[in-house]
Amino acid sequence: MILHVPSLERLVNELSKLPGIGPKTAQRLGYYVLRSTSEYNEALQLALEGVRKSVHECPKCFSFTENQSLCFYCEDQNRLDDTICVVEDPADIARFDSSGAFKGRYHVLHGAISPLEGILPKDIRLQPLLERIQNENIKEVILALDADLEGDTTVLYISKQLHGKGVKLSRIAHGIPIGGDIDYIDFRTLGRAIENRVEI
Ligand SMILES: [Zn+2]
Repeated sequence: MILHVPSLERLVNELSKLPGIGPKTAQRLGYYVLRSTSEYNEALQLALEGVRKSVHECPKCFSFTENQSLCFYCEDQNRLDDTICVVEDPADIARFDSSGAFKGRYHVLHGAISPLEGILPKDIRLQPLLERIQNENIKEVILALDADLEGDTTVLYISKQLHGKGVKLSRIAHGIPIGGDIDYIDFRTLGRAIENRVEI
């Protein structure tokens, strides 16, 4: 996009890389930031720096945290220790927790297996999940993955790895449309999806 103001063009270009932001919206946001007060620009800059410097992955579940050791969900004493809900993205955890239907632990894979895109089991947090299941004596694993090809492939891989190990494995199903991205499903539907999970 040529605006003949290189600094503004650079800002618009960076904003347009955000998901769901098309060129027009990026341009509108760019002009908005340009016209904003210096206090707002400073606050925005500090917020961006804050997430970059302070947020890291929890060493246990790989969700995001600012805590020195474990995250909020791993530290919470009021959760079942023998049940894990496996999600693709850290953002999925808040959605599942809002549903109130799950009171166990979480594990974030940071993606799903996708041979087409060259994403193999070693490229996501699968091995640490398998280690946790063994080391933490996990009795039940609920797979809350997207209902698409990558989700299916990941479910199949995990079910093969856990076969014969005495772990109850289920996948949320009811209410999740085929090809459905769980980003777009409301928390009540997600709550029902957990309650009606299907054993694998
Ligand atoms: Zn954690």
